[in-house]
This record gives sequence, structure tokens and C-alpha cells, in this order.
Amino acid sequence: MSEETKKENQFEFKAEIKELLNILVHSLYTNREIFIRELVSNASDALDKLRFESTRGTEIFSNDLELAISIKGDEKENMLVISDTGIGMTKDEIISHIGTIAKSGSGEFLKQLSENKEQANNIIGKFGVGFYSVFMVSDKVEIISRSYKVDAKPIKWVSDGLGSFEVEELDEDIKRGTEIRIHLKEDSKEYAEKYRLQNVIKTHSNFITFPIKIDDEQVNKVTAIWREPKSSVTQEQYNEFYKFLSHDFEDPFHIIHKAVDAPIQFNALLFFPKKNMDIFGMNRENYGLDLYVRRVLINHQNKDLLPEYLSFVKGVVDSEDLPLNISRETLQENVVFAKISSSVTKQILSELAKMAKDDKEKYAQFWKEFARIFKMGYADYANQEKFVELLRFDSSANENKDQLVAFAEYVERIKPDQKEIYYMTGPSREGLIMDPHLEIFKRKGIEVLYLYDPVDEFVISSINKYKEFELKSVDQVDMKSLEKLADSGEKKEKAEELSKDESKQLKSLLKKMKDILGDKVTDVKISERLEDSPACLVNSDNTMSASMQKMMNMMGNNTSIPAKIMELNQDHTLVRNLIKIFKSDENDKYITDVTEQLYESSLLLEGYLQDPHKLVNRINSMLEDSSKWYTEVKKL
Ligand code: ADP
Repeated sequence: MSEETKKENQFEFKAEIKELLNILVHSLYTNREIFIRELVSNASDALDKLRFESTRGTEIFSNDLELAISIKGDEKENMLVISDTGIGMTKDEIISHIGTIAKSGSGEFLKQLSENKEQANNIIGKFGVGFYSVFMVSDKVEIISRSYKVDAKPIKWVSDGLGSFEVEELDEDIKRGTEIRIHLKEDSKEYAEKYRLQNVIKTHSNFITFPIKIDDEQVNKVTAIWREPKSSVTQEQYNEFYKFLSHDFEDPFHIIHKAVDAPIQFNALLFFPKKNMDIFGMNRENYGLDLYVRRVLINHQNKDLLPEYLSFVKGVVDSEDLPLNISRETLQENVVFAKISSSVTKQILSELAKMAKDDKEKYAQFWKEFARIFKMGYADYANQEKFVELLRFDSSANENKDQLVAFAEYVERIKPDQKEIYYMTGPSREGLIMDPHLEIFKRKGIEVLYLYDPVDEFVISSINKYKEFELKSVDQVDMKSLEKLADSGEKKEKAEELSKDESKQLKSLLKKMKDILGDKVTDVKISERLEDSPACLVNSDNTMSASMQKMMNMMGNNTSIPAKIMELNQDHTLVRNLIKIFKSDENDKYITDVTEQLYESSLLLEGYLQDPHKLVNRINSMLEDSSKWYTEVKKL
């Protein structure tokens, strides 16, 4: 080759690939054998694509070649050769395919990988890093490829995995497909040994649906276990298949194996992982079910077979009722496909309902791991009835936050005249328990659901009702509906009734307080709901709970504080004393201080107080006063 053509054929890897290569070559990854899994999986994809082209009638170079993968180790030469009879690559294709990272999310993956070197084992294993993993064991790789396109030229690609690669077109006659020649590094000689290779294939690639031959001897099973009757598949086979499919190291948490006949025929083999694999939230793209038509892979990780809230489910769907030559693009508009997809969702939801009923502990484990993503199902209106039954919450009826309550259980023990289900949102159980809004519920002995997850608010407002019971936030509740219910909770001694004069003073005091607060509140009223706290804020209209309002404001970048009603507890010692002070001097500054303090404390509890300086100054000065009085009383 002349100097000139050499230059023409020399290409630099894109920056992100250089980075990936750098990490792979220098990582202390202990499970390097997975490079074979990656190359075999690429070979299998290439064969799948060829079969797909062939079924749709495309003209194919050497159409009668057997579809297979071949692996040959050469211990003398320290070489490993992996080849397939798949679609192959042209010069332009190899430059664009093996030179840039196409997958979305790979950038983030790289960033995480370089920041979490010690996690590399986990990350590399679970994500699969494709072709480049070969450079963990090799410092020279050659690819010879011949595309299935009839008039394509064979090509040769060479790289040391450092910064660049060379590609040239060949004039020789070459068999269709791709051959990867791997020159093994000194420390990776083991991958030329037949026994070692057999072992790796059995561990990672046993379920590839094309024959894999090591030195011409087939080593994998090539069975579509999802099509076998349940009774003939062992637990061990299920586990093995799951690990093959998901790259998980652990056995699956739950298995669904179904042969559905009506209205549409399909087989499904689905798995729930033990752990949520969306590590660092960056695995979003890596979901979907593999779609087969009569055992031919049509689409790997099809994302339309599963709604996103079930994206933790891994598995395979295979149908007789779809046409083999369906294009990936028209799948979405296919009626049969839509029916399969909706049936898959229903199967999963029924299975979860069964688990929730038969094995509460297992369901709780599921909930702990996947509730976050599962709750996004609130938007699946077609299945809302089933979805709602699967929701779980902490509740005032529980002893701790790990016990979980379903709407059905709440309703089972609901009070005779109670027409609403009550809930409250907040960051923690400890905080919610002390909230003033809860006081009347404690007195009445009414159960309140505790919601900690911001998404709960959306879930509740979108479902709105469970059976005939409306879902109501405790700060939106209409007092009249509560008053009708008998007290059956904590009993407190009743405070002394106010005298006529005191009642009159209190009325004027409320007016005074409203004047002090001005537009910040819509009214100041006597409370029916408070037991222990002196004051709280409640919504003046019934449209939204406080936390929903806050969230909407945050999303709209709105930092204004909505005007609410301030409620006062007339039996509280503080309020009783304020009446006395008011009676002696309507304009006593102490009344102004207390009013502002009560208002700001309530804002603080609701998460609205933006600047605590005034509040802290006021408290400090009140503490100073009270310390004076305290030392006087104590005669110190
Ligand atoms: P991935 O397989 O996840 O897309 P890789 O880096 O392993 O990522 O491969 C990049 C691309 O190179 C593949 O998507 C495919 O287009 C092409 N490729 C790799 N191996 C083969 C092969 N054996 N035959 C044909 N094309 C291949």
C-alpha cells in the first residue's frame, strides 16, 4: 500500500470510544471473559438481521450458507477467531458502526464508569460494552467482513485499540459474514483453550438461537425455552436463561411463563429481577422485551410491548399470529401487536395481584424495590382499576413505616358514615405524626394514609377515587363531614367553656389578628380540628392539597405564598392568655408578635417559609423576655 492510500484508510476513534477503550484496557475487571459474550451476541444479532432480510425477500449474497457462529482457538499462535455468516459490514458501515457509540445514554454510562471505577465489575457486566471489550484481552484485532449485499466488496479492519484503526477493501473472494481475529495478550492465553471456551459459552451464551460451534462441534442448546411446556423446564434452566437475557448475576425474583391462546396466540416468558437494575437512573434505555415471531427474533428490547412503569420486567414474547416479514417500523400500527402488548400488561398486573394476595411478604419486597417506577402506572387509564388495588401506603393504623396498607384494607375498617379516604403527604412519618392537621383525626380515631414520595401526590390526584370513596388530603377536608363521625380515638380533657365576655373578646381578637396579617391570610377563624397546637393554616378553596400546590408552584417557578385561612385553637393556653392581654390592651405589641410568629411557624411546617431570619429574631427576643419572667417567678 502506498503512503497515500495508507492515510486514506487510517481513521481515528471518536473521543468517547478512546475514553471507553482507555477504561476497559486499564480496568481491573475480573470477569474479562464477557468479551466473548459480547462478540457472540453481535454475531447472533448479525444472523438475526440476515434472517429478517431473507424472510422479507431481500436478495442475499450466498443465501444458502448455514446460519451459524464458529469459534476457533489456536493455542500455538495465541489466537482466537470468532466468525458468523450474518449480514456482514461494508467499508462505510464498519467505519460508522465500529468507531462511534450509537447507543443513547452511553455518554452518561461512560461518565459513571469513570467516576465509579470500583463499581466497574458491576457496570461492565450489566450493561455490556459491546465490541470494544475485546481490547481487555487483545492488543491487535482484525475484522474481515463481507456484506450480504450482492455487490458489496469485502473489507479488512485492523486496530491495536489505542487511538486509531485502518480499513481497506479487499479484492479476494470472501464468505459472507464477519470474522474477528483476536491476537491474545500474554495474560489472556486461556481464551485460546477449547475447554475454557466451552465453559464461557455455556455460562453466557447457552441460549443463543443459532448453533455455536467450537472447532466444528456444537456447544449450545438452541432451544426456545419460552415455547416449551412449563412442566418440561427446570428452575435451573429458567435461572440460566434469565441471566443470559438480563446479564444479571443473581437469579430472578419472580418468573411468569404463559402460553396465551385467546384472543391472540403468544408465548411469554417474563422475569422480575431481584434488584432494580436502573443503577444511577441511567439504564432507562435498556429495557423492553425481545419480540419473536415463530422463533425468529424481530426486535430486541421492544419498548412498545411494555409500558414504562413495568420496564423492570425482562423477557421474551413470541407469537404465531404476527407476519414474519413485518417491519419494525409498522409494528406499532399492527392491531395484533397492540393486542399482544395490552395482554402482556394485563398478565403482569394479574400476576402481581396474585402475589399480593398469596404472599404478602414477597409483594412487600417487590414494592420496596420497584414502587418508585411502578407508581408511574397512574397514567395507564386502561388498567387503572387493577393498578389501584396494587398500591401500598404507610398509614396511621400501622406501627411503623414498613407495614403497608392497600386501599382495600383501609376501606375494610372504614367508619360507618365515613365517605372519604384521608391522606397526608410529607417527608417522613416522624414529621407527619406531629402535624396539627392530624389532631382531629387522632381524636376521631380516623385512619390517615401517610405518603412520602413526591409522585404519590400525582398518583392520588389522577385516580381521585377508590370505589365510591373520594381521596382527600387532610388539609382539604370539609370539617362538617368529620364532625358527623363519632369520637373514638384519643380522649382529652375538655377545656373550660369560655364566658360570654371572653367569647366576645375572642371574636374581636380574631379580627385584630386578621388586620395584623393583612393579605397574607384570607381569614382568621376558630378551629374545629386542633387539639394540641395553637394554630394552623388551611386551604381557603378546596381545589388542591398544600403539597400539590407547592409542587405546581415549583414547576411553574412560582414562589408566591398562597393566602390561606389561619385557624386558632380556642382551648389552647396561649390563646386563652392572648384573650386576657387583648382585653387589657388591644394594641399590645405582644399580640402582634405572637400573631406573626404563629403565622410564620405554620408556614414553616408547610414548607413555604423562604426566609427564616425574622422568625428567628422574634423567637430570640421572646426567649429573652421569657427568661426574665422565669427568673422572677423562680426568684433567682
Ligand atoms: P452494539 O452491538 O451494542 O450495537 P457494538 O459496539 O458491539 O455495539 O457493535 C457496534 C455495531 O457494529 C453493531 O451495532 C453492528 O452494527 C456492528 N457489528 C458488530 N459486530 C458485528 C458482526 N459480527 N456482524 C455485523 N455487524 C456487526
